Amino acid sequence: MKNVKTILVIEDEPDIRELIHFNLNKFDYNVQLASNGEKGLKEARASEPDLILLDLMLPGIQGIDVCRLIKSDPNLQNIPIIILSALGQEEDIVKGLDAGADDYVSKPFSLDILNARIKTVLRRYTKKEDENLNKKISFKGIDISSRTRDVKIDGKSILLTYTEFQILHLL
Ligand code: CA
Repeated sequence: MKNVKTILVIEDEPDIRELIHFNLNKFDYNVQLASNGEKGLKEARASEPDLILLDLMLPGIQGIDVCRLIKSDPNLQNIPIIILSALGQEEDIVKGLDAGADDYVSKPFSLDILNARIKTVLRRYTKKEDENLNKKISFKGIDISSRTRDVKIDGKSILLTYTEFQILHLL
């Protein structure tokens, strides 16, 4: 699993974009920037980031629609989204959460809060990924645990090489 997380920032205001960029760099995230929804979607498809910070008020495609498009795309829907919204956009925040956004931060935001939310969402998703990796597969008396690479046939453990295991796991 890669350790450096990639965060895509979709934000049209250059000052805010740069502030977030500078801030995220301090925490060793790999940062990608997009100045509108169209570029953001393109970037998301190209680099499949670990998290997206999405401004709601964007020129062209609105943030809310970007959120919907990402969450309805099988290749992208597992990427967590944190919405950046201006004050007085409660209705849009609700729409964003309905559309699958994971959290939101209201502008003007404190960087500490933004960082805490990012950390929490990433932690939640990393845990989910780990659970998926650890899942056990069972069929026809064969039990496979993908974490321990333990294979049992009718309850008896058998030893497999790494390659054998990978092949069986793929099957
Ligand atoms: Ca904006």
